[in-house]
Amino acid sequence: MSRKGLAERLADGPVICAEGYLFELERRGYVQAGAFVPEAVLDHPEVVEQVHRDFVHNGSDVVEAFTYYAHREKLRIIGREHQLEAMNRQALAIAKKVAAETGALFAGDICNTNVYEAGDRASQTASRAMFEEQVGWAKEAGVDYVIAETFSYGAEAKLALEIIKAAGLAAVVTMTIHREPLTRDGLTPEDCCRMLADAGADVVGLNCIRGPNTMMPLIANIVRAVSIPVAALPAPFRTHEREPTFQSLRDANCTCIPGGMPFPVALEPFTCNRFEIGLFAKQALDLGVRYIGLCCGAMPHHIRSIAEALGRRPPASRYSADMSRHAYFGDDARLKQSNRDYAEKL
Ligand SMILES: [Zn+2]
Repeated sequence: MSRKGLAERLADGPVICAEGYLFELERRGYVQAGAFVPEAVLDHPEVVEQVHRDFVHNGSDVVEAFTYYAHREKLRIIGREHQLEAMNRQALAIAKKVAAETGALFAGDICNTNVYEAGDRASQTASRAMFEEQVGWAKEAGVDYVIAETFSYGAEAKLALEIIKAAGLAAVVTMTIHREPLTRDGLTPEDCCRMLADAGADVVGLNCIRGPNTMMPLIANIVRAVSIPVAALPAPFRTHEREPTFQSLRDANCTCIPGGMPFPVALEPFTCNRFEIGLFAKQALDLGVRYIGLCCGAMPHHIRSIAEALGRRPPASRYSADMSRHAYFGDDARLKQSNRDYAEKL
C-alpha cells in the first residue's frame, strides 16, 4: 500500500505538524539563541533525530527537516557558509529516515531570508538564489512537500512559493504577523493569503510569533477569505491584546532578565499548558483549519494535546495522565487510604 501524500491526508481530515525545532534544540543545549542556526544537524544529528521521533510519537503527521535558517545569510553570520549544502542534506536525510520509519510525511523547509527588502531588486535576486538552492536539495531528497514559513513580506513568500512550484512540489506557505496586524508590505493577513492561494499554494496560513489567543482572530479572517486548506501554527505562549507577540511579552514578576525582554530564553512563565493547547486545537478545528500545529516553544506534550483534542491516540497517549492512580489524589481501591486522607494537606 502506498503512503498517503499531503493532499490525500488533508482530504481525510486535519494534518498535525510540529514545528519549533530551534527553540526545542536550544532548550536542550544544542542551538545558540540569537544566531538561531540549526548547527545541531551537523554537530549532534542523533539529538535532532530524537526530537523528530518524539514529535511523531506524540502525534505529528509531519517530519519537518530542520533546515529552518540553514540558509546562506544565517550561515554567513556564524562563519559556516562552507557547510551550507552539507547541513541541508544532512537535515533532510535525518528527517527522511524518521518519516520512512514512522509513515509520517517528509517536509522540506525554507523561511524568511533576512536579506529580502521590498523594492530592492538586488535583495530579491539574492533571496531567489537562496530559495532555489534549498528547494533544490529538498527536491533531490524526495520531500513530500515544502514548508515556506515565517515570512513578514507577502512578496517574499510569493517568491518562495514560485520557486517551490517551479520545482514541481506542493507548498505550505505560512506568514508571520508581528505587532502590527499587517505584513511588512502592508497586506492584511487574509489578503496576503488570498494572493498566495491564487499563486498556487496548497495550504496558506500563519505560524510563529503570536500565541493562540492573538493568532486565531486573524486565522478566522483567512478561513473566510480562501478556499484552500488553512494552516494555524501559533507559538504556544499566552500572548494577549497589549502584548500580541512573544517578542512583546514582558514579565512583571521577574526583574532579573537581562534587558527586561523574556524573548527568547525566559519565556517559560508564559508557556501555554496542554489544556490551553487542546482548546486551541478544538477552536482551530471548529473554524475549519485543516493544518494544525505549533511553532517556537512547542514541546512534544503540546503536540499530544492537539492530537487528543482531534480525537486521536498517538503512541504517547499510552502515558497520558491518569490521576486515579496517584498515591494521594487517586481513587484506585489499591491505594493506601492514609495517604489519600492526607491529600488536602499537600
Ligand atoms: Zn517559530
